Amino acid sequence: MNFHVLSLFPEYFETFLKNGVVGGAVQKKLISLSVVNPRDFTEGNYKMVDDIPYGGGDGMVMAFEPMSKAIQSIKSENPLKIYLSPQGEPLTDKVAKTMAETKRDIVFICGRYAGVDERFISEYVDQEISVGNYVVSGGELPALICIDAIARHVPGVLGNKDSAVKDSFHDSLLEAPSFTRPAEIDGLGVPKVLTEGHHEKIATWKRLISILRTFQRRPDLYERANISPKERLLANKLLAEMSEKDLRISGLKNQALPLDQS
Ligand code: SAM
Repeated sequence: MNFHVLSLFPEYFETFLKNGVVGGAVQKKLISLSVVNPRDFTEGNYKMVDDIPYGGGDGMVMAFEPMSKAIQSIKSENPLKIYLSPQGEPLTDKVAKTMAETKRDIVFICGRYAGVDERFISEYVDQEISVGNYVVSGGELPALICIDAIARHVPGVLGNKDSAVKDSFHDSLLEAPSFTRPAEIDGLGVPKVLTEGHHEKIATWKRLISILRTFQRRPDLYERANISPKERLLANKLLAEMSEKDLRISGLKNQALPLDQS
């Protein structure tokens, strides 16, 4: 999968390309990432990429021409062109997965200042994506988030041990909590079932804790999750058996699932 970025700050992407899951995927040639700087397509001593807004208002606006030349310089066949914008469609795991499954080339356009001349957006952009209901100063961090979230769904990028299927949001559930050595910290142990090596019991425990955590933390996701009546009963039974300490180490409250849903 090939990612292309239009950004006035290419250095944002340098560390990202060398480290972690994304860095590994670049090394394995599962993904590639190139950055084009619209400033390289300006003329004159000041290399101006922005201008004052028509009608007044705060902040400068990124001008059409350098952006247009920059995007046209990207040699790629029929890429999906995404403008990062607080006004766009919210990024979700489902959106990221669909892009990984259906696209080979994606261009991310990073705005700065007050944004980009709207005519550039109407001329070139296929989709606008937002990373949340807040405004950040530029599209670079949102682009990094999108690329990371999409890359995780590209086959081979994650090994089996941390596959995206186990992550939060798969099947509309949050993942169960994780623990590592030592076995005890400040009197807090590890849920006993995780130390006993019984894989089926561990899988059931994780599923039930996932269900409870999703209900307590993200009722909106819980509403959409596919949970059987039997699982609801088992989750409540597990919850009822938990001590205060068990609840604490599992990140749960003593709040049972409603049983009247089918
Ligand atoms: N004036 C714009 C508005 O209110 O819609 C916000 C401009 S913002 C300061 C500068 C750039 O940051 C935007 O052009 C966009 O590329 C990026 N940006 C800011 N918040 C974002 C968000 N929540 N999701 C995606 N991109 C965002």
